[in-house]
Amino acid sequence: MGEIEMADTKRAMQCGHCGEHPAFLERGECRQHGDVLVDPDKSGYQYEFWQKITTWRVLECTLCERPTLVQELVSYHFDFDDVEGRVRKVESAETVILYPQAPTRTILIDLPQTVEKAYRTALDVQTSPNAFAVLAGRTLEAACNHEKAPGRDLASKLNHLANSGHIPQTLGEMAQQLRLLRNLGAHDAEDEVNQDDVPIILDFLEAILEYLYIAPAKINAVKARLAKADEKKGRGTGKTD
Ligand SMILES: [Zn+2]
Repeated sequence: MGEIEMADTKRAMQCGHCGEHPAFLERGECRQHGDVLVDPDKSGYQYEFWQKITTWRVLECTLCERPTLVQELVSYHFDFDDVEGRVRKVESAETVILYPQAPTRTILIDLPQTVEKAYRTALDVQTSPNAFAVLAGRTLEAACNHEKAPGRDLASKLNHLANSGHIPQTLGEMAQQLRLLRNLGAHDAEDEVNQDDVPIILDFLEAILEYLYIAPAKINAVKARLAKADEKKGRGTGKTD
């Protein structure tokens, strides 16, 4: 009986380098500890036993030609079958990409309560692009309201934020684009928001929230640190760290 068959190319997996879903060419394969698949007929075991095999494969992306290291953990179970004799059955198989590592996304914390609530709600629906776009827009609205930006709709509130220097012009433009994407999600448009738009929307939203709420906190932390140093100097401790 053969081992688990692997086609020469694997589809549907996303390349962690170029972000596409290309075909992959298998360039190398080996097993952890140099393990080999046991032949049940030569193993001495009469009926059934388990085997766990960890396989590492190097795959080359056919688009960007960069390498991906995949780990496959397969648990086999040998069963005795009246008709076929011993049969190798795959109990479970798990594939993990070891390289390149997907950047672990950290979510923003310590936002104003209403903004954080809207942001968390948006994060919960990332698998539904239209809903996500709408809730990302709602998060922007919550931020505008928190900043007490005047205006009758989101567009004019965002303009106010940018024009009054609350956010830089580039972020203001980002916010306006985010608003347009939200409109795509909210209205029954032909061109609706799709899964590829989700990370773009999220990046935009987080850039704006970071600027409004995270950066000032970081600056304050540094200010406090410098003030402390000044205080020490004033007392003449002589420390200059
Ligand atoms: Zn690639």
